[in-house]
Amino acid sequence: MIVSHANELPLEKCPALVLNADYRPLSYYPLSLWCWQDVVRDVFLDRVNIVSEYDREIRSPSFSMKLPSVISLKTFVKPSENPNFTRFNVFLRDKFSCLYCGDKKNLTFDHLIPKSKGGITSWENVATACTGCNVKKGNRLSSECGMYPKIKPFKPTDEQLHKNGRNFPPNFLHQSWLDYLYWDVRLEP
Ligand SMILES: [Zn+2]
Repeated sequence: MIVSHANELPLEKCPALVLNADYRPLSYYPLSLWCWQDVVRDVFLDRVNIVSEYDREIRSPSFSMKLPSVISLKTFVKPSENPNFTRFNVFLRDKFSCLYCGDKKNLTFDHLIPKSKGGITSWENVATACTGCNVKKGNRLSSECGMYPKIKPFKPTDEQLHKNGRNFPPNFLHQSWLDYLYWDVRLEP
């Protein structure tokens, strides 16, 4: 859903898209959004530039301002070469699909070299798998069961994770954000 008029929405539903100093979003998935309170605070602390605004004002007795809809950081945050090894990031690396059959439901982890054979939990040894494939493969090596992952699991960079995140646009997108976002899938009008 792309929303152009936010007037009717409660303030809590009016977050700002946060861009890095190079005007690229800090993160695609989850999309880097800040709640309006954090945005206003950082505007006052002079940490961010206002790039675009909602068509609505916030007021207190002493000041009023248009609510920012897109902001950019004044200080560039360098993307990490070492993203955190988390369940979410492994799924994101594998685009939330089973590396064996492509299924997108009931996802879990498969250890390429099973734990029982000394395999460790690492970027290189963990693949996203549906529970069906995970059970089918069991405690066997790929060579023992003929099940090979579509890609060899690897340690991704932030850049690679961002790229994959572009396949997962959120349900809510404000019109003013679209100039700064590039989705790899067609958006619902
Ligand atoms: Zn599968």
